[in-house]
Amino acid sequence: AELIGQRPADIVRKLMDMGQMLTFNQPMNTEVALMIAEESGIRVDISVEKAGEELLEDLVSTEGEGRPEPRPPVVTIMGHVDHGKTSLLDAIRETKVAEGEAGGITQHIGAYTVTVRGKQVTFLDTPGHEAFTAMRARGAKVTDIVILVVAADDGVMPQTIEAIHHAKAAGVPLIVAMNKIDKPTANPDRVRNALSEHGLISEAWGGDTIMVEVSAKQKTGLDQLLEMILLQAEILELKADPHVLAKGAVVEAKLERGRGPVATVLIQSGTLHVGDVFVVGSFSGKVRALISHTGVKVEKAGPSIPVEVIGLPGVPSAGDVFQAVKDERAAREIAEDRARKQRAAELAGSGKVSLTDLFAKIQEGSVKELALVIKADVQGSSEALAAAIEKLPTELVKLRVIHNGVGGVTESDVLLAAASNAIIIGFNIRPETKASALAEKEGVDVRLYTIIYEALADIKAAMEGLLEPTL
Ligand code: GDP
Repeated sequence: AELIGQRPADIVRKLMDMGQMLTFNQPMNTEVALMIAEESGIRVDISVEKAGEELLEDLVSTEGEGRPEPRPPVVTIMGHVDHGKTSLLDAIRETKVAEGEAGGITQHIGAYTVTVRGKQVTFLDTPGHEAFTAMRARGAKVTDIVILVVAADDGVMPQTIEAIHHAKAAGVPLIVAMNKIDKPTANPDRVRNALSEHGLISEAWGGDTIMVEVSAKQKTGLDQLLEMILLQAEILELKADPHVLAKGAVVEAKLERGRGPVATVLIQSGTLHVGDVFVVGSFSGKVRALISHTGVKVEKAGPSIPVEVIGLPGVPSAGDVFQAVKDERAAREIAEDRARKQRAAELAGSGKVSLTDLFAKIQEGSVKELALVIKADVQGSSEALAAAIEKLPTELVKLRVIHNGVGGVTESDVLLAAASNAIIIGFNIRPETKASALAEKEGVDVRLYTIIYEALADIKAAMEGLLEPTL
C-alpha cells in the first residue's frame, strides 16, 4: 500500500472483491499483488531471491556452451585380497611417476597421476570396491575405468565377483589385469575361463573385455596395461571444461598437526586456483595452498588432477562434493543451507527405498526400478532366488538383481545397496553386526527369509501396494 500510494483498507477491500480474505499483515501471493498494482497503473518487475542450491547453480553456471577439452582417465583398482592391488599401484607409481615428474618422490595423498607418452592417467590410491562404492554412496562418481586384478595362480574368488558387480552397478568399464604371471603356477587360460562365466569374455576369445597379463613384482606388462587404459579412455571420449569454476570430489581428508584440516580433492571439471572460495559438504573456505602428489606447491589444478587443499575450516568426508564459487558470502550461505538440509534429512529418514514404501514411491513416480542385492547360505539358493525374482511379472517397476552372493550380509553389500538405492534380500543367513549398524545408518532395507516363496510373495505384494507393514 505504501509503495503504490494507497490506503491499506482500500487494498484489503479490493482483495475481498477478488475473493482474497486477507488482513493488513498477511502476505499475498505474487499474482494477486500483480493484479492490485496493475489496477493502479503500476508496472511490476518480479525478481526472485535465490538461496541454497539454487543460488549455487546460479553462481557456478557459465554463459554459453562451455569449452570441453579431453581430460585424463581416473582409474580405481579392485580385486580379491592378496591378488596384488597394492603391489600394482606401487609398481606403476614407482616406475612411472619418476619418469614424468621432477623429483619423482610421491607423497601419499590418496591419488596420483602418471604420464605415459605425454598423456596422463590418474590412479585412486585406495584400492578395493568398498572405497569405490562408499564414494558412490555419497554421490561422488569419480572413477572412469576399473582395473580388476586377478591373480593368475589363484583365479576368480568371491571378492573378484563382488568387484565385477560393483563396477557393473556403477556402469564403469572394466579392464582385467592378470597379475602374478611370473609364478610357475600361473594359469591365465583357467582364469579367462572362470571370468567368462561372469560375463567377462576376453578379446582373444571374441569378447570385448580387455585383459592384460602383468607382474607387479617383476614390473612387467605395466606399459601394456597403461596403453590399454589410454585406449579405453579414448573410446570413452572423456571431456571436461577447464575454463569454469572448479568442481570435484574429496578422495581423502584428515586433520594434520601444523597444517590443520587437509583434503585431497580430485578435480572433475574447471580449474582450482589458490585464493578460490569454495564450498565442500557443509563447510566453506578459501584455498590457502595447493599441493601436488609429489609434494610440490602448485598454483592451480585442472580436470582429473588430484590436489591437496589447505584452507578448510573442518574435515570433510570422502565423497563430498567440492565446488568453487564466486564470492565468500554465497559460499557461507550455501554451506549453512546444506548443514540445515542435512539435519532435516537426518530427522526425516534417508529417503531410500524400502519394500514397505515401494508402492508409494512407484505411485509418486520417484522409483521406476527396484534394484536388489541377494545373499544366501549356498550358491544354489542365491541363484535360484535371483532367477525367480527376475521372472516375477512386473508392470510398474522393473526388478534388477545387481549382486548375488554367498554368505552373510557384509558392509560391502550395504554400501552397494546404498549407492544403488537397492534393498537387500537375505536367505538363510544373518547380517554381520557391523553391516546391520551400517544398514541402519544408511537407511538400507534388509529383509531376511528362510522360505524362498515368502521372499517372492513379499516383493510381489510390495509392488502391488499390498505389503503389510512390519514393526
Ligand atoms: P592386495 O591385498 O590385493 O593389495 O595384495 P598385495 O599387493 O598386498 O599383494 C599380496 C601378496 O602378493 C604380496 O605378498 C605380494 O608381494 C604378492 N604379489 C603381488 N604381486 C605379485 C606378482 O606379480 N608376482 C608375485 N609372485 N607376487 C606378487
